[in-house]
Amino acid sequence: MCGIIGIYSKNDISKDLYYGLYSLQHRGQESCGMAVLNDKKIDYHRGMGLVPDVFKEADLENLKGSIGIGHVRYSTAGGSHISNCQPLVGVCRGRQLSLAHNGNLTNYDALRDTLEEDGLMFQTSIDSEIILYLLARSYKGDIVESVKNTMDHIKGAYSLVIMSEGELVAVRDPHGFRPLVLGKKDNEYILSSESSSINILGGEVIRDIEPGEILVIKDGKLYSHNYPKKENKTTCIFEHIYFARNDATMDGLNPYEFRVRCGEILAKEEEIKADIVVPVPDSGWTGALGYAKESGIPLMEGLVKNRYVGRTFIKPTQNEREIGVKIKLSPLKEVVKGKSIVLIDDSIVRGTTSRKLIDSLRAAGAKEVHLRVTSPPVKYPCYFGIDTPRRSQLIASNHSVKEIGEIIGADSLKFLSIEGMLKASQMENHFCMACFNGEYPVKPESEEIKNG
Ligand code: 5GP
Ligand code: MG
Repeated sequence: MCGIIGIYSKNDISKDLYYGLYSLQHRGQESCGMAVLNDKKIDYHRGMGLVPDVFKEADLENLKGSIGIGHVRYSTAGGSHISNCQPLVGVCRGRQLSLAHNGNLTNYDALRDTLEEDGLMFQTSIDSEIILYLLARSYKGDIVESVKNTMDHIKGAYSLVIMSEGELVAVRDPHGFRPLVLGKKDNEYILSSESSSINILGGEVIRDIEPGEILVIKDGKLYSHNYPKKENKTTCIFEHIYFARNDATMDGLNPYEFRVRCGEILAKEEEIKADIVVPVPDSGWTGALGYAKESGIPLMEGLVKNRYVGRTFIKPTQNEREIGVKIKLSPLKEVVKGKSIVLIDDSIVRGTTSRKLIDSLRAAGAKEVHLRVTSPPVKYPCYFGIDTPRRSQLIASNHSVKEIGEIIGADSLKFLSIEGMLKASQMENHFCMACFNGEYPVKPESEEIKNG
């Protein structure tokens, strides 16, 4: 998972890129970077860590340019290392290219093998570098041709912002797995993974980049092209369940409204007697609002969140993840003592969070803890950019709902059904739901993935 942004303007844009990246921070906390076009030269700054830590006033002052792209990274392919920071920047036949990528390629290993056979040496372990090489190989001045050429080779999930000479280009893979939105502020164009960035920067959202679209911004104008091979639109539903901000409307669906409805529908699917509804902050809040409203059970803050701790998954090892949960969330005795609780979370992935939380709620005196999850069980790994890569790590892939309830120590456990989730979207089904139903719109190719 990652967040990407691109800005095309007549003025200096490094500050806007900075605030835009800040608004995408939830999409990746591992590293970040930006690249700007300064005359014909691309300058860039990248580093490990959060946006305000990587960019200081002086760094922004050194980045002068009116076209630029940026990236926040959450590693799903390639390790956590400075060399894997984006945007990637390269020169080929005297032409500069820079790229930021959100998504995962499913044929990375095969492509990398082929390119290495040709004698190419890679500087990173990320799939995005393949895209840069393929682009550079065919780029002789016509960016649309070279993007189409590249798209003939790459498979899987990719939303891209690309900067070449005087142009900013947005690309979304033919399935549209990952989001990408276009907006405008005066004469400035803004591209971002989430519409929230556009609003925060004072702009207006124009529309989503369409699956398979190649949009070029050049000489202050928009030129839209389509990749000729069409696929079914299958946008990631997990973006709406967990990943995106509440205020990021993507492909016509607002995550806040969707999450509230998921909670309401989950409550409708059962009759339950309990004293209070307690959300798992922050991601459980919105679903809990819907659940509490529909069930009539009062919503209470039974868990206190440390604001200075980021997303639990930040820490790559299981041990660190477990400690992370404790530091992040602690029970409010005054609220939970003696109470029968409906605990609401947006999803269960590994089961670490829920197990730890239920333990700590009981230790704080909770009488009963009934866990309700406002999405279906995550049974299958994602190959398209969500951090749920291995089947062995997914608790719902190896256990029934009853067993999961026992493992995490809940008095009862229920998930939203797939039908309920679709109903909550209030849209025709155009979603990738592979993590829930195992139906992959693109078959993964590499050995590692197959064995995942
Ligand atoms: P678990 O402990 O079951 O592995 O994690 C479940 C929690 O992680 C939920 O509270 C959910 O909000 C959050 N979550 C689900 N998917 C992701 C993800 O891809 N990345 C991060 N950082 N958190 C996730
Ligand atoms: Mg959560």
